[in-house]
Amino acid sequence: MRLILLGPPGAGKGTQAVNIVKKYNIPHISTGDMFRKNIKEGTDLGVKAKEYIDKGLLVPDELTVAIVKDRLSEKDCQEGFLLDGFPRTVNQADALDTELKNLSYELDHVINIDVEKEELIDRAVGRRVCKDCGATYHIKFNPPKKENMCDVCGGELIQRKDDTVETVTKRIEVYLEQTEPLIDYYGKKGILINIDGKQDIDKVFEDIVASLGRE
Ligand SMILES: [Zn+2]
Repeated sequence: MRLILLGPPGAGKGTQAVNIVKKYNIPHISTGDMFRKNIKEGTDLGVKAKEYIDKGLLVPDELTVAIVKDRLSEKDCQEGFLLDGFPRTVNQADALDTELKNLSYELDHVINIDVEKEELIDRAVGRRVCKDCGATYHIKFNPPKKENMCDVCGGELIQRKDDTVETVTKRIEVYLEQTEPLIDYYGKKGILINIDGKQDIDKVFEDIVASLGRE
């Protein structure tokens, strides 16, 4: 199963990604995680990416594509994968298409978790992030096992300064604007699955599995 997972910030994408990779036994390819790993290991790509991130700049497409390409070439991706956080733009989607063709891979589905803007803003208020490892939680939808403590590393959970209503609104609007063409792009290819992300987490996952099963 070769999948892309799309969803605006606060749609519960992270939780669904974990559920999907577990159910279908495929690697979870998150560009955020890969950047952190490459930077930590000091790879060439990591060093280059860090230069941009440290300056507060967006990592250029070719660098992101190179990191994804490296990862997709690894053996564990032969049986499938879940791409999370990539592509974000039609340009990146085109680049991904090229790389997939080179690898003789074809995408099966693009899952879009659809949630209204107003609902997303409400949800953002409950977001918490581990200050040590960057794992994300939500006090209501994805709470840590122990209050205010990261399940992964035991670090303290904090509310990010940019999770104010104003910043969140801007972030979501930018995402929706940027992603709309991408949704059209995969819609035209006939591989887009829209999932109602307003439902509770378990029902969202049920819908995803049901949709993937209809082949
Ligand atoms: Zn942590």
